[in-house]
Amino acid sequence: MNTFINFSYIVASILFIFGLKMLSSAGTARRGNLVSALGMAIAVIATLLYQGMSYHWIILGLIIGGAVGASAAQLVKMTAMPEMVALFNGFGGIASLLVGWAEFHARPTSPAFTLVAISLAVLIGGITFSGSLIAYAKLAEKIDGKPLLFKGQQGVNAGLLGGALLFIILFAAAPHGYSLLIGLILLALVLGVLVVIPIGGADMPVVIALLNSYSGLAACAAGFVILNNVLIVAGALVGASGLILTSIMCKAMNRSLANVLFSGFGATTTQSGGGYQGEARPVTVDDAYYILEAARSVVFVPGYGMAVSQAQHVVRELGELLEANGAEVKYAIHPVAGRMPGHMNVLLAEANVPYEQLVVPEDVNPIMSTVDVAIVIGANDVVNPAAREDENSPLWGMPVINVDHARTCIVSKRSLNPGFAGVDNPLFFKDNTRMLFGDAKKSFQGLVAQFKEG
Ligand code: NDP
Repeated sequence: MNTFINFSYIVASILFIFGLKMLSSAGTARRGNLVSALGMAIAVIATLLYQGMSYHWIILGLIIGGAVGASAAQLVKMTAMPEMVALFNGFGGIASLLVGWAEFHARPTSPAFTLVAISLAVLIGGITFSGSLIAYAKLAEKIDGKPLLFKGQQGVNAGLLGGALLFIILFAAAPHGYSLLIGLILLALVLGVLVVIPIGGADMPVVIALLNSYSGLAACAAGFVILNNVLIVAGALVGASGLILTSIMCKAMNRSLANVLFSGFGATTTQSGGGYQGEARPVTVDDAYYILEAARSVVFVPGYGMAVSQAQHVVRELGELLEANGAEVKYAIHPVAGRMPGHMNVLLAEANVPYEQLVVPEDVNPIMSTVDVAIVIGANDVVNPAAREDENSPLWGMPVINVDHARTCIVSKRSLNPGFAGVDNPLFFKDNTRMLFGDAKKSFQGLVAQFKEG
């Protein structure tokens, strides 16, 4: 039976790897998800075949976990997805912590290797759990999203981490009952809170990717605790892919991970309202329709506001009408548009926008000056030209989509308020920018109605 279980684990691991690979492209992502899920189903079934397994707790856990997961998937709004991902990471962390605890409870005199693995599962799992709860609270605006900085913060964190490593050495040398383990758990929980509070709300998606990676590492440690090969492999895959994602997001903002983690971005708003002066030129839906009607090439640039107003379906409808009117239509997606990696890709895929029409900033920026109309739908920071033009801007150096280089730029949003990063946007005052004020969905519904009538 053990050979069969191990063979199933190898099959599951291969499916995870292929599934992950397929997730990296929009065209194959849906199938990639299914392939990974199949791998997980095989891993779970194989694990349940272990001899001497008692099923009653597993069934209870399945019912409770399944009910929570199914209702969360139904109830959570698309805009709250990043918060949900944060919570799920946290649950992954606490699960690994509990595996470590349970193993110590079952076999307190384990060899030093297992005790080190238990300590790592507890330490990384604890940091992931409390850090993810803070990330959730910041994203859901349950607590202030601004970075919370105090003097000597890095020293305190380094001291806590040093203390935790000392606890691990003492625990592995001689477990001393539960006191060292409880001490380690408390240190981990405090450390998780302290490493996330100095990071601003605008950087939370990066932190969530990092915590996702930690939850994988904690699971990997838990795999070493119970010597379960598929848990080790799956944990390592999550750990590595989370790190890669973190690095992609940092690159998209032209910042280092250290800058994201320690700079307290957004602690002080360097430009309060009115940082850029000028006259914004509002347009009505009718005016915007005439501009679009004459356009031969149109680039849509979605951002977080499209998710808020759930405008993706009507945006796609407008795209189709523009194409029928003879325009070439593209959707330019910035890697950090929205509040989580791939946020805009998911929304546009949900609205059945063809993958071939999606482009990345590197492709569209060089040809932007030939584009008749760039329409910004609830995006702000990712189209802020201050990133190129103003050395004093906190966004300076961040690659943005150069919508201001298009012949005309229409910005659909409700006000002149800044975006997530709290930085003013000179785009609104450019000569070729027209502000289409109002909820994006309503504005686009108006445009679609005009096209249908016209
Ligand atoms: P922003 O948060 O910069 O801007 C969103 C805009 O949407 C707001 O300015 C708001 O303006 C507008 N808006 C809100 N509701 C509506 C509505 N109903 N209709 C029309 N407009 C609306 O979003 P971006 O996507 O441009 O930028 C993402 C931000 O997240 C960046 O700061 C980025 O660095 C950060 N980030 C994202 C990551 C990711 O993985 N996605 C990773 C790290 C950081 P108004 O209130 O006037 O309507």
